[in-house]
Amino acid sequence: MAETILVVNGGSSSIKFELFEIDHGDALKRVLRGQIEGIGTHPRLIVKDANGAVAIDQTWSIDEVGELHDALDKLVIFLLDFVGELPIAIGHRVVHGGPDFVEPTVVTPELVKRLEHFIPLAPLHQPNNLEPIRFVMTRHPHLLQVACFDTAFHRGHPEVADRYAIPENLYVEGVRRYGFHGLSYEYIAQRLRDVAPDIADGRVVIAHLGNGASMCALSAGKSIDSSMGFTALDGLPMGTRPGQLDPGIVLYLLSEKGMGGKEIEHLLYHDCGLKGLSGISNDVRDLLTSTDPKAKLALDYLAYHIATVAGMFTAALGGIDALVFTAGIGENAPAVRQAVANRLSWFGLELCENANAKNEIRISREGSRVSCFVIPTDEELMIARHTLRILQRQAGGVIEEKQA
Ligand code: AMP
Repeated sequence: MAETILVVNGGSSSIKFELFEIDHGDALKRVLRGQIEGIGTHPRLIVKDANGAVAIDQTWSIDEVGELHDALDKLVIFLLDFVGELPIAIGHRVVHGGPDFVEPTVVTPELVKRLEHFIPLAPLHQPNNLEPIRFVMTRHPHLLQVACFDTAFHRGHPEVADRYAIPENLYVEGVRRYGFHGLSYEYIAQRLRDVAPDIADGRVVIAHLGNGASMCALSAGKSIDSSMGFTALDGLPMGTRPGQLDPGIVLYLLSEKGMGGKEIEHLLYHDCGLKGLSGISNDVRDLLTSTDPKAKLALDYLAYHIATVAGMFTAALGGIDALVFTAGIGENAPAVRQAVANRLSWFGLELCENANAKNEIRISREGSRVSCFVIPTDEELMIARHTLRILQRQAGGVIEEKQA
């Protein structure tokens, strides 16, 4: 096999990864995707090839694979066996790059130390993102590692979108509106150049609607605002997170309900959003098939907030040329897209019912003043592209991946 790049997305009890072959030195071909799950409970490595065929599905006892590094050792053994050699570089998704990291960065021990400072800003994600990086630094110190940040794409926001109306000292120490899902938005901004080159340089609002959900305002391909802020709790209602919330509610929970910080954190990350509102499920598929009025309320709430953020971003952009839907809900739920579009007919968005039902790429009706697209996101390919670009820069060679 040609040289490969491994993309790693480390979570709390699982690690997702994808392997890309570098085809002819400058194009990326996905060859494997898989995950290590059940770390600490029932460790399992499952990997599928590019056609979806299972390449390995193996479980271990907790005595054999007790810790994350044991699981990563097993992944290395599998890669050596399947590919014949280790990847030439690893690209990692790192949720928080703080105020300073505006682009993917080569991992060094100093970088890891700096990224550790942002753990309090993303306590649920940052430690899990850093652990595989430390493992590779220790076990395979010569392997090039690249940290790709979910915040980086948003670092160019104008000050009015980057700040909260709070005292300066809090801003200086890092309390600002970072925005997340940046790798997804960057990928969509690049895809738009192929899908709708006439619009890619215009005013675009993207709705990344997955289990975590946010929106981004793009001006000429650059992010100028995001619905997520200091943490990934703000903005749209999500599967289990509330989205926009009056901070007075947190004060109420503290002073009147006697709840502690950890309890409130658990409530906000795990029991709110569509799950809390419906009392049924965090999954839009369950809500769409339910006849319970509370399921309808949760879906209405979701569509209402997507539409109102689209309105807000239309003001931020001084108009709108296109709305793009992406991620699990955005790519697969025509009913949600239609409900949003119904609320946005005032700015001239009209969907083609047939194209929307089929999840086609362009779902706006011919003649709709605002265009509407469904573009599947690919954060892993974005990370692989960044890693390849850094490899090429280091080799002093070609700068950009040749896109298919
Ligand atoms: P993601 O985080 O992008 O993987 O998206 C996961 C979410 O997408 C799930 O929790 C579901 O709510 C939603 N989803 C996935 N498939 C569908 C579908 N066919 N229809 C509606 N929602 C879906």
